[in-house]
Amino acid sequence: MWAPPELRAVCLDIDDTLIDFTATGKRTLAALIGRSDMWATWERVTDEHVARVVEGRLDYAEMHTRRSHAFLTGLGLSVDLDDAAEFESRRKALLNRSWRLFDDVLPCLEWLTAAGVQLAAVTNASGAHQRDKLAALGLTPFFDHVAIAGEIGMAKPDPAMFESVCLQLGCDPREAVHVGDKLTTDAVGARDAGLGGVWLDRGGVCAAEAGETDDARESDGSAETAATGEDVEPGEAVPDGVHVLTTLAELPELLVSEFVRVGVPAPR
Ligand SMILES: [Mg+2]
Repeated sequence: MWAPPELRAVCLDIDDTLIDFTATGKRTLAALIGRSDMWATWERVTDEHVARVVEGRLDYAEMHTRRSHAFLTGLGLSVDLDDAAEFESRRKALLNRSWRLFDDVLPCLEWLTAAGVQLAAVTNASGAHQRDKLAALGLTPFFDHVAIAGEIGMAKPDPAMFESVCLQLGCDPREAVHVGDKLTTDAVGARDAGLGGVWLDRGGVCAAEAGETDDARESDGSAETAATGEDVEPGEAVPDGVHVLTTLAELPELLVSEFVRVGVPAPR
């Protein structure tokens, strides 16, 4: 007889899912360089350098300096690697004073803990600083496992990343859900690895009218702190099998409706 899967683990992306990463990063970068129009460039340069780390061609400490060096020289500034390292340390100090959680995070983590599921943080970002961020924001005790792309040499949406997390948690992918702000990297990647894939569309890209721009949504404040859906156009259909939420406050209801045994003790 068919029975709904039992939910044993929930994986959560960190940046822009738990932590208001983009808004903080944008503000910090603008404060350091005195202009606010370079965030997209910064993200592109970062993606290029993170890819080299994942490929094993660069370590993280070196990546941060080289990323800042590439960014600053791209702005037309004449800087050497020492200048870039100094810029990077000022940027980090400012960031570390500025991180904040989205308001829906703690209630959601408390509900998940009370429901008795294991929790994993699954991030494509680098090494120890992700753990420092979780610790600084009081999130460490919630998580049974923290999976960091830079440490394990694979990254979302590679199914191997999700499979390794499930192995660590001792659950089958069908017994796990992953929630993240990037449609392809997080939700589609998780779905393809056999987990429940949940896209946290904080900016409301999914519900927006086709042709509507980020700026239009930002003007009413709704997308001010949220990343966009990466490769998603407003109004575009969401891939089959992907669930969409606009806030983590909606996660318990989704889990209860899709995984009816959440919170129900397993028979002995
Ligand atoms: Mg993210």
